[in-house]
Amino acid sequence: MDKFTTLRVGGPADYFAEPGSEEAAAALLKVAREEKIPVLLMGNGSNLLVRDGGFRGLVIRLGKAFSGITRKENCLYAQSGALLSVLARQAQEAALTGLEFAQGIPGSVGGGVYMNAGAYGGELGNTVDFVRVFDGSAVRDIPGSDMRFSYRHTRAMEEPWVILGAQFRLTPGDPKEIETAMRDYAARRKEKQPLEYPSAGSFFKRPAGHFAGALIEGAGLKGLSVGGAQVSEKHAGFLINKGGATAADFLKLMEEVQERVMEKYGVRLEPEVRIVGEDP
Ligand SMILES: Cc1cc2nc3c(=O)[nH]c(=O)nc-3n(C[C@H](O)[C@H](O)[C@H](O)COP(=O)(O)OP(=O)(O)OC[C@H]3O[C@@H](n4cnc5c(N)ncnc54)[C@H](O)[C@@H]3O)c2cc1C
Repeated sequence: MDKFTTLRVGGPADYFAEPGSEEAAAALLKVAREEKIPVLLMGNGSNLLVRDGGFRGLVIRLGKAFSGITRKENCLYAQSGALLSVLARQAQEAALTGLEFAQGIPGSVGGGVYMNAGAYGGELGNTVDFVRVFDGSAVRDIPGSDMRFSYRHTRAMEEPWVILGAQFRLTPGDPKEIETAMRDYAARRKEKQPLEYPSAGSFFKRPAGHFAGALIEGAGLKGLSVGGAQVSEKHAGFLINKGGATAADFLKLMEEVQERVMEKYGVRLEPEVRIVGEDP
């Protein structure tokens, strides 16, 4: 799984499939259910830490075959494999505002909706009209208001759903202004984030009333390393792969950071990154 995750760590999956259609995905899920094979859905792997023993089951990656984006008036419907960067660009080209913040998030629509990804004051949940899911027996459109969107949390985390796509309700805007906002966000990311190293973005959620990066930096942990995993010198909220890191390195570093921040500030840092799979 190191080839399919932006952290570049993780052992093998027993089975790995990239279905070419919704029918193929449904057929795979049916077989997995009949054979009692655990399933992990994934998009771009930019928020996944797979342990070094890999995943005992079937990983289904919704990728290129699920990347269609269509416009209907002020809405864009995107299949779950579409990249958020492509969606944000299409919104700009269609003179629709509301997704500028998503341009630099290196995930897919499926993973983004699942995580309620957000940045610079925006969150995907704010613009979701409905989410199309496969619930194991039927395809349903769940209204955004029923998705229980909150900070990096959605109802999709509590239900056995496959996210097939989502419709985003946007507002007409000036394409030049949208472009300027997107460029500004991209420049801020480049300046502040260690984009030159593999990572999963902010490793920890923002604890109420604090910023994870500021607490980690305040605890003197910038540059702290375990094996090939390191607290970024550039942005302490990012744990980066300096080369040759294992999932175990990241997990040890995560625990060390949690302990030291707890000791100094009494604040418990929870990972935002989804940790899956098993140890060797
Ligand atoms: C450099 C960098 C910067 C980042 N910046 C941000 C940021 O600004 N804001 C932010 O919120 N995040 C950020 N991230 C984290 C990440 O990009 C987002 O969480 C993104 O939305 C994850 O999408 P993905 O397709 O990569 O999901 P994955 O990592 O593939 O999956 C994430 C979770 O979603 C589930 N999932 C994926 N697809 C589906 C589906 N179709 N159906 C059901 N479940 C599914 C997976 O099982 C997993 O639990 C950043 C990451 C990196 C590497």
